Amino acid sequence: MKRPICACGKNQCAINYIRKGKMYYRSMCDVCGRRRKKLKPRIPGWTKSGYKKKSTCDLCGFPSLYAQQITVFHVDGQLKNVALSNLRSICLNCVEVVKHREVTWKRGDLVVDY
Ligand SMILES: [Zn+2]
Ligand SMILES: [Zn+2]
Repeated sequence: MKRPICACGKNQCAINYIRKGKMYYRSMCDVCGRRRKKLKPRIPGWTKSGYKKKSTCDLCGFPSLYAQQITVFHVDGQLKNVALSNLRSICLNCVEVVKHREVTWKRGDLVVDY
């Protein structure tokens, strides 16, 4: 089954469930589904711990102009571990470096796949 496109024409339909290796899709994309259910966009877990994303990179000290230039990483790769000691603010340049070197690090503010 080919992944259908949502009625909004912007995104692919969200995955509903996978059974016996076969994917089943919802009738709309995640964005439309959330809008319809009046759900707020997903909030990254680390925000609950009170962690504040820094404006400078923890690795190279790059001062960001926009919040989007910095990504919050979980050092141990466990997105549920939102202890402050497990969180780092990393600039997009260092994201690439981290991906190659520190394989356990995971981005904490990735959005769902649409
Ligand atoms: Zn849609
Ligand atoms: Zn950096």
